[in-house]
Amino acid sequence: MDDLDFALKYPFSSEAKQIVQNIHLTDRVLELGAERIKKALRGESKARVVLNQEGKKEDIASFAAARMILGFMKNTFLTNKFAVNESKVVRSHLDKEDKKTVERVAARFDIFPENRNNTMLLDLPTYVRFSVRSPYYRLVNRKLTNGFVEINDNDLRRLVEEAVRKHTEDIPVVRDPPKQVKHIAERIIEELPKSETTINAKEGDHPPCILNLLESAKKHQNLNHSARWYLATYLNAIGMGEDAITGIYAQLPDFNEKTTRYQIKHLRRKGYNVPSCSTVMSYGLCVASCRTGNPVRWHKLSESRKKEILK
Ligand code: SF4
Repeated sequence: MDDLDFALKYPFSSEAKQIVQNIHLTDRVLELGAERIKKALRGESKARVVLNQEGKKEDIASFAAARMILGFMKNTFLTNKFAVNESKVVRSHLDKEDKKTVERVAARFDIFPENRNNTMLLDLPTYVRFSVRSPYYRLVNRKLTNGFVEINDNDLRRLVEEAVRKHTEDIPVVRDPPKQVKHIAERIIEELPKSETTINAKEGDHPPCILNLLESAKKHQNLNHSARWYLATYLNAIGMGEDAITGIYAQLPDFNEKTTRYQIKHLRRKGYNVPSCSTVMSYGLCVASCRTGNPVRWHKLSESRKKEILK
């Protein structure tokens, strides 16, 4: 793969930076940057197909343009959505690459896996820096050898995906951009989904682990699969309606209304129970020692305490 095609797939690479240096942020490039952000809003993680050299260069520059627009907008929701979407696009490329190319992308984030006796090892600090919040990646579930963590090809791709997300959401503030950027920012604001839902949970309403997840949703941070699943079973069990639960999930950067509603209906139909505290602990989501055994029990005890006080 030549440098141009590599940069097209990986617009954060040093190859991309070199190419972008010689390109002006024209109106066309800024519009492509805006479209990149809007694609993230729509949850479209398919890469744009560009065939000619000029088009490829503009597409690479549109990544920098999008970051400039977001740096001016300072909108956490949009930035998180953009970062998640871009990392998913990169992941779809990585899944089709050979090992050498994956390692080339990984090197951009100082991820240097070592191969010893047919085993792939990654140094502990790098692993911790880019591993995701999920039981599978927790250190207690990993094989450690002399400060190195054993990983496989798929783990490496996932770690790089996370590194891309982190890098992409780390956008410097742009204070005084060109006029065109300001106009684009105004247009994007108009197109933002108007959510009626505000997450109004306060201490005493829900157990600390749930408050923690609601706080993350409020900040438009991504939640991993276990966290989403746990939160949905809990909200359903305490009697929250489908619309209200969907409204909370609408705050997440990769929200998809159809999928969310389908999953809520599915968990209701199947009658899934809320996991016990020890299971929540194994998900890495427990943040206190409430001694209630089950998060729903925590909620019920809290509700009856409130009723006692009002008597
Ligand atoms: S002990 Fe249970 S209710 Fe309390 S934070 Fe942990 S999982 Fe949640």
